[in-house]
Amino acid sequence: MRKKIWMAAVLTAVSVAAVGCQKYEKVEVPAGLEAAEAMQKNPADEASGESQAETSTAGISVKEVETTRETAPVMENRDEKVYVNAANVNVRKEPQPGAEIVTRLNSGAELHRTGYSDFWSKVEYQGQTCYMASRYLTTEKPEVSETVTASAAASSSQVGLNGDWKYADFSKINSGKAVMYRAEGENRKGKVVCVNAGHGTKGGSSVKTQCHPDGTPKVTGGTTGAGATSAVAVSSGMTFADGTPEAEVTLAMAKVLKDKLLARGFDVLMIRETDDVQLDNIARTVIANNMADCHIALHWDSTSSDKGVFYMSVPGVESYRAMEPVASHWQEHHALGDSLLAGLKGVGAKVFSNGKMEMDLTQTSFSTVPSIDIELGDKASGHSAAALDNLGNGLADGVEQFFS
Ligand SMILES: [Zn+2]
Repeated sequence: MRKKIWMAAVLTAVSVAAVGCQKYEKVEVPAGLEAAEAMQKNPADEASGESQAETSTAGISVKEVETTRETAPVMENRDEKVYVNAANVNVRKEPQPGAEIVTRLNSGAELHRTGYSDFWSKVEYQGQTCYMASRYLTTEKPEVSETVTASAAASSSQVGLNGDWKYADFSKINSGKAVMYRAEGENRKGKVVCVNAGHGTKGGSSVKTQCHPDGTPKVTGGTTGAGATSAVAVSSGMTFADGTPEAEVTLAMAKVLKDKLLARGFDVLMIRETDDVQLDNIARTVIANNMADCHIALHWDSTSSDKGVFYMSVPGVESYRAMEPVASHWQEHHALGDSLLAGLKGVGAKVFSNGKMEMDLTQTSFSTVPSIDIELGDKASGHSAAALDNLGNGLADGVEQFFS
């Protein structure tokens, strides 16, 4: 909530500043330094931890933010390797608070730094010049990334797509990394749940991947029509009635579910933890096939009737159910879907129709572990923190039921 207020202040400042159209070429050193100091004491939203959000509204006036924007950061040239030392640190297009965020990086991410000032560092990210807050970068490689979640202590490690894995060759976008969290409580179950926040792959809708491993056409419509043999690698998702992108809500949901599963002793493989992971639907599926015991993709549907939750079931088309790996696994997919649905019903979630809709999905077509696309509502559904928390309890109950 506080963070929202802060963002509103930044946006106001930016629009005021835009009238004069002064960019940061203009140097106003004294005022700028003051503002930079203020920013350091009250680190805007450069890392999205709770504590930063708490302090971010204090002490920075609109004028100070405006001044910072107009002040050229005087940078020393650097040519060095640096590491991110905090979670969810913003990588921005310009050295300005409120500038477009290219991605967010987690502790341990490695970058090449070409410029340094007390507040901003100039870095190379995937071939583009970007800017990050200097205080979240260090030249010393951090120890193995250890993430302490609200509910459980868990150790984490990155997982990429291994080209030797079955079906890996069908993936077109796979430079990104998923993150494995190992539960460390005494209630450890030794089961890995892949939590896949739907969408969130920049450029994913302009690349196509094969629908089925055997090259046959899709048997139902969806984002891509029936009869097609290739489909968008990752679609961009819908936008909620209140203007929130689906990808933002699926990510928030994934984080809630991760904490709940870790607390219950499950290991969690997070496919996406920022607004962009370069992993297409096939890469996500193949990683889950090899590293997880089940795969749950989180989505909201594109209708506007607040119709309730349901899962995408395996189409009752003979040829599809006879195709591998669908033939060997479709019943497990349904068992997982039914368990999740039961968990969601248990927390009072509204259920659409009989709770399932037949859909020929890339995910299903390549899954060799129990795998489901669960639609947690649609454009008109509420997605407040309380709503996501409740859905998270239902999903976690469903996972427990599935493995019991
Ligand atoms: Zn979706």
